[in-house]
Amino acid sequence: MLKKELNIFSFGDLLEYFPFRHVDKTEVTGISDIPAFPDYIQIVGTLRKLQVEGDNRKKRLVGLLQDDTGTIELVWFQGISWLQKTLTVGNRYLVFGKTGFYMGEPQITHPEMEVMTPQKSEGKGFLEPMYPTTEKLKSRGLSGRQIGKLTYHLFSLLNEKEVVENLPLPLISELQLIGRYQAYKQIHFPINLEEYFQAVKRIKFEELFLSQLRLGLLRSARHRFSKGLIFNKVGELFNTFYNSYLPFQLTGAQKRVLKEIRRDAGSGRQMNRLLQGDVGSGKTMVALLAMLIAADNNFQSCLMAPTEILARQHYNGITKLLKDMPVKVGILTGSSTAKERKILLPACEDGSLNILIGTHAVIEDTVQFKNLGLAIVDEQHRFGVEQRARLWKKNDLHPHILVMTATPIPRTLALTAYGDLDYSIMDEMPPGRQPVITVHRSEHSRPQVMDFIKQQIRMGRQAYLIYPLIEESMKLDFENLMKGYEEVKAFFPEPQYWISMIHGRQKASQKEANMQRFVNGETQIMVSTTVIEVGVDIPNASVMVIESAEKFGLPQLHQLRGRVGRGSAKSYCVLLSGTKISSEAKQRLKIMCETNDGFIIAEKDLELRGPGDIEGTKQSGILNFKLANIVEDKELVELAKNVAETIIEKDSGLDLPENLSLSKFLKSQKGKTVWSKIS
Ligand code: ADP
Ligand code: MG
Repeated sequence: MLKKELNIFSFGDLLEYFPFRHVDKTEVTGISDIPAFPDYIQIVGTLRKLQVEGDNRKKRLVGLLQDDTGTIELVWFQGISWLQKTLTVGNRYLVFGKTGFYMGEPQITHPEMEVMTPQKSEGKGFLEPMYPTTEKLKSRGLSGRQIGKLTYHLFSLLNEKEVVENLPLPLISELQLIGRYQAYKQIHFPINLEEYFQAVKRIKFEELFLSQLRLGLLRSARHRFSKGLIFNKVGELFNTFYNSYLPFQLTGAQKRVLKEIRRDAGSGRQMNRLLQGDVGSGKTMVALLAMLIAADNNFQSCLMAPTEILARQHYNGITKLLKDMPVKVGILTGSSTAKERKILLPACEDGSLNILIGTHAVIEDTVQFKNLGLAIVDEQHRFGVEQRARLWKKNDLHPHILVMTATPIPRTLALTAYGDLDYSIMDEMPPGRQPVITVHRSEHSRPQVMDFIKQQIRMGRQAYLIYPLIEESMKLDFENLMKGYEEVKAFFPEPQYWISMIHGRQKASQKEANMQRFVNGETQIMVSTTVIEVGVDIPNASVMVIESAEKFGLPQLHQLRGRVGRGSAKSYCVLLSGTKISSEAKQRLKIMCETNDGFIIAEKDLELRGPGDIEGTKQSGILNFKLANIVEDKELVELAKNVAETIIEKDSGLDLPENLSLSKFLKSQKGKTVWSKIS
């Protein structure tokens, strides 16, 4: 039962089955003092009445308890015959349970009953742990209190040696933590709140520290042992491009990241780097320059994008930039024809193709490289881990990997979920960018918003109108979009205005054609679902209207908004919403209006949603801490990281005597997976 219902398999599991709260058992409440809101309480009184009520289908046992101050009803729906046998009218009981209200009067449903014997003091004088349990277990008599009794019993069998200390002693004294045994004991059975908090701190630190240590050890092992392809020079291709064709000066951040990549790729070990950059910070150029370095060293590269539109845009942009250079670039997507493949795939295989750009079609088995040296994954969050793993199988020695995020990830999340990767941050925007002016309007203002778009179009600008895409209901989305399109058309009649539309039901060629007309300026308005979300780069577009903005998450809104404000013109983002929206949605829209900084937005998003809900982390289990929480325990995460780093720096094999307990413990915990591990 315990196994199936609560996942408790061993003593160790029971130790780690923490109470969700404690009830102050030092206190007994008088019945007349019962608070007006539901709460756990403890009363001592005499059972005055006990009788079965209701018919067979809805039978219940009702008792009446009396103390000096009044009476209260006790109700049971289950285990009635057993209770009738064990409870005796006239006895005094210690009654514990959660109050509820029925017809305005307090009552306790399924209270725990203990006979008060004369020896028993009226209060028990400690904090009683409350454990989560299930209805099924309760109906079989395993209440939260029973679990507490089991745990209590377990502690009477255990001594300090059996809950082995796993942290180095110097660390424990430096951080003023309590010992492991003590912590487990105190988290279940604290004498006072201070003891409880000491235990919580120790256990949280241990969890976070061990996770940081594992990740740090992986990273350090990779640095020391992994063999990588060596890019030892920056050659003619890079230099020619840099000196003659680079359309702008690199930002300091771009230069720094490029240096980091060069250092990794020249080091003889395999690069595994996560590049975090805000929307519009210029990650594509970094990718291109890195691919040129690969080509200078006779290696092929591939750049993988999450959507066909984006892959095509990368291909168009990059071939244009490289048009006078002897670099061969190809594109492979789901809609590449057999004829195109027939030319492309052999070129991949014989090494004559330098750069392959594509969607996840590039990881199909039919795609064979002669010498893949660098694989870049753009806008990472759309790609599953497994998909990525297939990419690095494409060479005997793993290619260098660069993963570029679509929007920034909060720092604590990056540390915990990607802590085994090296990571670079681009926190600087190309010069001349102005923040996008963002406002929140209700649907009623749609006419004014459309007028504003007309104004912008008169100034030669272009506009996006975005409709939500909720995958569960493609049909509804489509209807929504079509309705929106008709509305927009009414505001913007031809031939004065021309509209492009892109949505998921179009063929790739249709999307491409509509996109191209917008890129060329033949259409002034782009009506689209979120397929446009990621990466699309059209500097002349200066307005974005997001319909039903309350339905979008923060990272998505930020990514969408990143489609405007790419040129030097002042740009605008209008978040249209219904009039009745949840307070959380309001908060999201408010944050969007307040800041353009993706790093701040990422933090706020984590705060609002909590760590359990961040894309891609749920299934992974990487954030399944028993107690720690990367939102609330930010400082502890930083501390754990720093401590883990210091230890690894000093003793990467964990061979020092003080670290033996640690290495022993880690070995006993083998099998804990690290999902972001890339090679
Ligand atoms: P993201 O990081 O969101 O992928 P992009 O790579 O699409 O951003 O770059 C956004 C825009 O900024 C592009 O139009 C690109 O040409 C331009 N850009 C990139 N780097 C610079 C720079 N150093 N100076 C000026 N413009 C730049
Ligand atoms: Mg991009």
